Amino acid sequence: MSNKLRLAIQKSGRLSEDSIKLLKDCGIDLRNVKDRLRTESENFPIEIFFLRDDDIPEYVSDGVADIGIVGENVLYEKNKSVETVEELGFGKCRLSIAVPKADEYNNTYLQGKRIATSYPVLTSKFLNEKNIKAELHEISGSVEIAPGIGLADAVCDLVSSGSTLFMNGLKEVEVILQSQAVLIKNKSLSAEQQRLLDKLLFRIQAVKKAKNNKYILLNAPNDKLSEIIALLPGMKSPTVLPLAEEGWSSVHSVLNENEFWEIIEQLKAHGAQGILVVPIEKMII
Ligand code: ATP
Ligand code: ZN
Repeated sequence: MSNKLRLAIQKSGRLSEDSIKLLKDCGIDLRNVKDRLRTESENFPIEIFFLRDDDIPEYVSDGVADIGIVGENVLYEKNKSVETVEELGFGKCRLSIAVPKADEYNNTYLQGKRIATSYPVLTSKFLNEKNIKAELHEISGSVEIAPGIGLADAVCDLVSSGSTLFMNGLKEVEVILQSQAVLIKNKSLSAEQQRLLDKLLFRIQAVKKAKNNKYILLNAPNDKLSEIIALLPGMKSPTVLPLAEEGWSSVHSVLNENEFWEIIEQLKAHGAQGILVVPIEKMII
């Protein structure tokens, strides 16, 4: 049994760069990632396989790789027996139905229509749930041009901004799946591989938390200190240090990205000055 964790990631495409960056942020050194089929890390017992994203669920379920990074769209379409371990927060997109811009869309619009897609499994599932009978045309790329060339009446395709659809005279009318990249694992890992995965997962979670949080430093007049501290959650509670100037303190804390702007405004309103916000590289709670 290998004492390395074998990870499958996309060779070249929209998930490649973020997958490699995640590993780097986790302190895993990878050399020669260009034009390689596989590589090993010098400082973590991990071996990386570079594959087409469509093949990753199968390689992981077969045990050729122990873990993989793949979009949920591909994971659910392929429907292989693997376990999702962690949402990774990148590769965000949605799988949507789109129809010609000028058409009026309603519940019965798709009935009897021709729908072009690279996702026949997910599209059929959606149509069955809605009791719609339609004709699926499976194509592997450039699905969005199908209505324009008369191959289909509608498409079911991945969308991020919607600009590709728009340029092809289409509008998004149904979102059938919200997707992001996830870490998946083979269902029967050895104890050693599970131990390595736990180690990697610990790092991934620290990187994710750091990304969602900012370190904040500010100066506060002592008479407003308790109100300002009440606004700051901190990991335990904020750090307060006296400033050289009499009557003032320096307050340090950690803020979540989502509540960030809201709290900054309130801090200012309560007399906070010299507010500094800095990124956090790793965060372990
Ligand atoms: P491969 O050669 O590996 O099969 P591909 O052409 O199928 O690559 P990409 O276009 O690189 O795949 O997309 C990979 C994944 O990135 C998608 O399956 C999806 O999870 C995610 N993704 C994020 N945003 C988008 C988007 N706007 N369009 C397509 N995919 C996106
Ligand atoms: Zn693909």
